[in-house]
Amino acid sequence: MEDRNNQRDIPRGDRGNVQRKNYRQSEEYQRRKALRMKKRRRQVYIARICVFGGGALIILALVLIINGIVHHKSVKESIQFVEEKQKDTTVYRIMENKPEIDVQLITPNEYSRPQISTEKITGIVVHYTANPGTTAQQNRDFFDGLKDSHLTSVSSHFVVGLEGEVIQCIPTSERAYASNQRNFDTISIECCHMDETGKFNDATYDSVVRLCAYLCTKFNLEADAVIRHYDVTGKACPKYFVDNEEEWTKFKMAVDAYMKGNSREVDKEEHDSFYGIGEQTITPSITENQL
Ligand SMILES: [Zn+2]
Repeated sequence: MEDRNNQRDIPRGDRGNVQRKNYRQSEEYQRRKALRMKKRRRQVYIARICVFGGGALIILALVLIINGIVHHKSVKESIQFVEEKQKDTTVYRIMENKPEIDVQLITPNEYSRPQISTEKITGIVVHYTANPGTTAQQNRDFFDGLKDSHLTSVSSHFVVGLEGEVIQCIPTSERAYASNQRNFDTISIECCHMDETGKFNDATYDSVVRLCAYLCTKFNLEADAVIRHYDVTGKACPKYFVDNEEEWTKFKMAVDAYMKGNSREVDKEEHDSFYGIGEQTITPSITENQL
């Protein structure tokens, strides 16, 4: 009752103020104020996060874009580099005066003509028969006879005889058993000789030079691709050229000179057409380009 009286004593206009004052001092007011402050702080906090986060996103996006541009550029440069590396720098030559080759393919058999394909030819390997005085025909027939004798596994794509004759025993598209770990990517030439020194006579020598030069033009190789059996396995073959290194150097120079003097540079298309490369094979016959 007293309160009511007190209220009544306060002028009407002041009553609201008193109520507000009381309210401000009340726990409810303090609680709401705290809540409002908390809410405000949260809003400020969120606003800061938005500004900061947005800024960070923009920076990140810029970094990604720049990185993308740089990366794209470097990828593009790498591709260009690889493409330039892959540009065909091969020198294509054709030799119109093809050496005379007596094609006498040996019978397919697992000892001397297993009919396994060669891969891309990267070398020509020179051998000597290590059988003084034997002829090209005898060596060819020995390889062929292995189908029955089973004595050993050996053969050669070509045999060059004492009179310079060339007999082909195996198509170049097939592997011969001559140069061990290089049978898959080389062409082999067995050379006949008169004595134990293994030195080739002039007819054999000239014929081997011509055959090597011809095969280099056919398989787009430089004279450096002509190697000795010795260079593959360390075997003393061809003996004379292992014993006389400077003679081997001269031989390769002779191949290079013969090739350059007896061939002409052409484009790939003319080269492949001249050697029949890319022609379809009609199995089981051997086309000219496989020889
Ligand atoms: Zn050999």
